[in-house]
Amino acid sequence: MAGNPEKIPIGISSCLLGEPVRFDGGHKYDPLINTQLADLFEFRPCCPEVAIGLGVPRDPIQLVRTGQGMRIKGVNNPDIDVTRKLENYGNRIAREFADICGYIFKARSPSCGMEGVATWTQQGRQAEPDGIGAFAAALIRAHPGLPVTDETRLQDPALREQFIEDVFARYRSYHS
Ligand code: SF4
Repeated sequence: MAGNPEKIPIGISSCLLGEPVRFDGGHKYDPLINTQLADLFEFRPCCPEVAIGLGVPRDPIQLVRTGQGMRIKGVNNPDIDVTRKLENYGNRIAREFADICGYIFKARSPSCGMEGVATWTQQGRQAEPDGIGAFAAALIRAHPGLPVTDETRLQDPALREQFIEDVFARYRSYHS
């Protein structure tokens, strides 16, 4: 982008920018994202759990394997099921952020995690850590081919470089 003042828009989990939106009122400010990548990208922050009305602070949620597939339920109150709300919000953001060229998700979150999220049985036992957050899954489905990553993958220089290249390629495809 040398000589081009325009930054490329990408979506990002709000907590990675230092916004205090986590269930415990904290954040997950990421130094690399907020320095190196902030020079390249215009961040469009989004916290799906706040957006669907769960509030801050809030009871934590988790991925639970059920007979109806993977559900996002309250840790302390399994009667709470926000799967559909998070999926609907992922679809909505895919429409509202139609021009983004990538997305940086918060790793391991039951809403934002894009891979390897912890899962639990209905009896409360830990199961395979192979879940995907409901918001991330819906957004990825609704935004085919969108370059996506998370803050742990960005620590790897090769994966980081690949993500940046993919975002630039997506941007060029929108503007060619
Ligand atoms: S991981 Fe996603 S849902 Fe959780 S606090 Fe961060 S932005 Fe919000």
